[in-house]
Amino acid sequence: MLAQLGRVVLLPAVAVLVWAAEPQIMPAGDAAVWVERETYVMGTRLRATVAGDDAAAAVAAIEQVFTAVRIVDARLSTWRDDTELSRLNRAPVGVPQRLSPSLFALLREVRRWRDTTGGAFDPAIGALVDAWDLRGVGRRPGPADLVRARRAGGMERLPLDEIGRSARRTAAAAWIDAGAFGKGAALREARRVLDSAGVRAALLNFGGQVLAVGTGRDGTAWRIPVAHPSRRGLPAAFLRLREQSAATTAQSERFVEVDGVRYGHVLDPRTGLPVPAWGSVTVVAEDPLAADILSTALFVLGPDSGMEWLEHRPGIAALFLIERDGAVTYRWTQAMEHYAVGVKASEN
Ligand code: ADP
Ligand code: MG
Repeated sequence: MLAQLGRVVLLPAVAVLVWAAEPQIMPAGDAAVWVERETYVMGTRLRATVAGDDAAAAVAAIEQVFTAVRIVDARLSTWRDDTELSRLNRAPVGVPQRLSPSLFALLREVRRWRDTTGGAFDPAIGALVDAWDLRGVGRRPGPADLVRARRAGGMERLPLDEIGRSARRTAAAAWIDAGAFGKGAALREARRVLDSAGVRAALLNFGGQVLAVGTGRDGTAWRIPVAHPSRRGLPAAFLRLREQSAATTAQSERFVEVDGVRYGHVLDPRTGLPVPAWGSVTVVAEDPLAADILSTALFVLGPDSGMEWLEHRPGIAALFLIERDGAVTYRWTQAMEHYAVGVKASEN
């Protein structure tokens, strides 16, 4: 019996945070040990909980995950100047920039999502991010500035050339913000790493986006809380995940305040305006990139247009939490019923 009990091994991550908790004895299914570590990357926390046959194997798998995510960050970050995406973002207007196969493939995929979502998701919103000064103290742009920023936005301002494997900026203010797809792209790489390391059970929590592999410590599907849209510490629902990723977009976590008005970090590329804080949307998908992108797209569309858009895409698992006058209403797609527990019966 004892042989089947796992241990949580707590080791300080090289770079940063120690997961502060007492080691606990927990059942760990077939695995001998669970190891949990945290690091800080892409401007947020990445927590990895991995089961292994022994501690060294689990630690090695976690190190590989952290390295893979850092490599994606070194390609996609727009908070540093030395990444491939930043170089493209600063490239002279009109001059094609040859891209690495992986960045080119990712941008092509991202452009397809832009088309599928009717432009609700469009990461080429850099000019609008600047106009609203979302990375600074915030600013309400005047009507002329807004028109200019909208004109400089959109993936069509950054045409991709298949033959030359290049991208070209066509407006001086145009740049791509990886905020709504970088974490998803990184988690996709992380899963590849976990697969090739032979990890059968793991949970990655990357700034709120989760990737589940196998089962949790109790041998059943991972139980993931979905936060209340404005009281983030409070779970409003739970998901049961085995091999999926769950991403949530809300307007309550990151915003700027101008003259007492809060402007959230999610913009509607079609109007150039920040999306009002109506609640949150969670998407569960096998592909972490799809989950990340779709949660942003559906947040922009909002529950009504979002549910309408989802009607034509029955495979997508989405849960909307709509907050009005302090009360939360739930709406979800049928595909979400596989995963969501504790969703209070209301409308759907
Ligand atoms: P979080 O980073 O909190 O997980 P999201 O995944 O929804 O949130 O991404 C929001 C980020 O994506 C913003 O901070 C901004 O960088 C970028 N962004 C904002 N609006 C859009 C949009 N309509 N399409 C694509 N990217 C967006
Ligand atoms: Mg997202």
